[in-house]
Amino acid sequence: MTTATTDTIAAQATARGRAALAIIRTSGPDAISVVDQCFRGADLAEAESHTAHVGYIVDADGEDVDQVVVTIFRAPRSATGENVAEVSCHGGDLAPKLVLQTLLAHGARMAEPGEFTQRGFLNGKLDLAQAEAVADLIHASSTRAHQVSLQHLQGRYSEQLNELREELLDLCGLMELEIDFTEEDVEFADRERLEELLGRAASLLDTLLATADTGETLKDGVRVVIGGRPNAGKSTLLNALVGRDRAIVSATPGTTRDEIEAEVEIDGVLFRFVDTAGLRDTTDQIEAEGVRRAERSIEQADVLIYVYDLQEGLDAEEQAFLRDVADESHAVETIVVGNKVDLVETPSGDGQPARAAEVVDDVLYLSADAARRDVDALEPLRDRLAETVADQLSRADASLIVTNQRHRSHLQSAREAIQNARNALDAGVSGDLLTLDLRQALHELGSILGTITNEDVLGQIFSRFCIGK
Ligand code: GDP
Ligand code: ZN
Repeated sequence: MTTATTDTIAAQATARGRAALAIIRTSGPDAISVVDQCFRGADLAEAESHTAHVGYIVDADGEDVDQVVVTIFRAPRSATGENVAEVSCHGGDLAPKLVLQTLLAHGARMAEPGEFTQRGFLNGKLDLAQAEAVADLIHASSTRAHQVSLQHLQGRYSEQLNELREELLDLCGLMELEIDFTEEDVEFADRERLEELLGRAASLLDTLLATADTGETLKDGVRVVIGGRPNAGKSTLLNALVGRDRAIVSATPGTTRDEIEAEVEIDGVLFRFVDTAGLRDTTDQIEAEGVRRAERSIEQADVLIYVYDLQEGLDAEEQAFLRDVADESHAVETIVVGNKVDLVETPSGDGQPARAAEVVDDVLYLSADAARRDVDALEPLRDRLAETVADQLSRADASLIVTNQRHRSHLQSAREAIQNARNALDAGVSGDLLTLDLRQALHELGSILGTITNEDVLGQIFSRFCIGK
């Protein structure tokens, strides 16, 4: 592994563009002296850790660049574990750029993406799982995703894995001792304790693995496909859903036959809506392609909102389709919306539209058109959407949710190794073979926490970061 602690790096930590303030971070053995050389104000070389100093950044010609506040953190009491000087200057396009240029001219090097966090990791300020949580926190697109990453950053997830790791390590040590003494036939490792520990490890890993789907939902959002015949009101419904929250992250308009995606947060969870081309039998080539795409979207969806026009009802083909989707093998939650309730007669008394579908007993009646003006009209639909993940979420403890694909696969391998060890124990296999399985499990846990790393993995993880983090 490269030891990154020899040179001093600098980068803008805040987003570019118009803002009141910007922060330029420097870290490394010379961070404080680099800033000190171009700082007019207190003598930073003498400054104590965790102190702030008002003054000016001055360029090589002695010209003032900007008025700034420099905050000093001395090694090892900083986020990177190195000397850190943070320069708060004015925001906008120019001041941060000029300040950074001045620092680079005085011997700092431009930081790579994630390099500050990587140094923190290398200096033991946070483990790999926590470093990854930093990236997740920055990229979090919903309130709950943010909460989970923050919890991971705070370390309870790592703590659990560490405890397990230490216990296994202990036991491994004992078993290995035993191997050295085989001739005397000593059993240092207590088999009962081993059995009990393996059982506990297996159940912790199972608990964690069971959260992985929830983790994926939180991180990537719930994929909702809006399907139905042309003119049923799919696009109107999508607009109503999105307009209400004004939380569109991306809306990619295409032709009417294309998919349109929009994102909305409901109850802290991100929902990604896809409006598909109508489902219709057709000989028209382009239309047929649209239908195929709609079918594929539905296969990939977590939830299907099926919209039909109450004036038309659900025809035989649609009924067959809905029966098919309800079939267990598809495992997609379906919400059926009877739209244009404003256009159908409501028989007095039961409040049910006259032409409700018979195949589906749970139809949500609404007017997508009216919902565009009446913000409360979609509340029942939003509730139904929130319900699709509510169970999953309430079962999971936010600090222990696995949100990371990399972790998931290491946890799976660790679980397999533990199972192998249990089987071996049952079969009365000798200690040295058991140790191999335990070592494997340890290796997998260590890979998550970063006690075992390779440069490729680290490179991949830290390159996901933005520069300055
Ligand atoms: P899509 O083809 O399924 O996307 O349907 P659109 O959203 O484009 O809607 C088709 C037509 O139905 C448009 O003229 C809409 O204004 C109209 N429409 C949609 N929802 C309603 C509704 O709830 N009530 C009424 N009266 N018209 C609606
Ligand atoms: Zn449409």
